[in-house]
Amino acid sequence: MAKEDDEQEYLFKIVVIGDSAVGKSNLLSRFARDEFDLHSKATVGVEFQTQVMEVDGKEVKAQVWDTAGQERFRAVTSAYYRGAVGALIVYDISRRTTFDSVKRWLEELNTHCDTTVARMLVGNKCDLENIRDVSIDDGKSVAEEEGLFFIETSALDSTNVIASFEIVIREIYNNIS
Ligand code: GDP
Ligand code: MG
Repeated sequence: MAKEDDEQEYLFKIVVIGDSAVGKSNLLSRFARDEFDLHSKATVGVEFQTQVMEVDGKEVKAQVWDTAGQERFRAVTSAYYRGAVGALIVYDISRRTTFDSVKRWLEELNTHCDTTVARMLVGNKCDLENIRDVSIDDGKSVAEEEGLFFIETSALDSTNVIASFEIVIREIYNNIS
């Protein structure tokens, strides 16, 4: 029997991209399991994690993909991006070079996904205020230029981690409904 309309299932693939060691894996583990690892190694071996959320009373499954460290070799494959409807582009607010890479990650995203992908620029490690290397205004202005949402997060102390995923998930939901 066909499902009722309001029983429709939503499954959103979201990719997390950005330079090595910006905290992608920890953002995901904080979001999906409320865990943080101070000594996380590049390769975790898990392709994605699924988290269920409610949007407008509907159950939405966010399938969030993590790289296995391929970004170190600039070799994130097209399979990684295939079917993605959302993306978090992450940099580390304490390392300017990771912010400079954002444009390159956006180009890569654009070559693999169409422009309707919901995109969020994420300045992670905002707990490291004392060694901040990228201002909030710098983050905001790149986000504005590129038409991205923008948020600063800390996977360490949990600041805005759930919010960052929720905003993307809600935007995807709005795009299709
Ligand atoms: P990835 O290579 O982008 O997946 O980065 P990881 O998640 O493996 O994190 C790289 C390093 O940064 C690890 O030592 C983490 O403990 C650390 N890290 C990740 N997120 C944060 C954060 O929000 N604040 C701080 N201070 N360190 C973080
Ligand atoms: Mg990682």
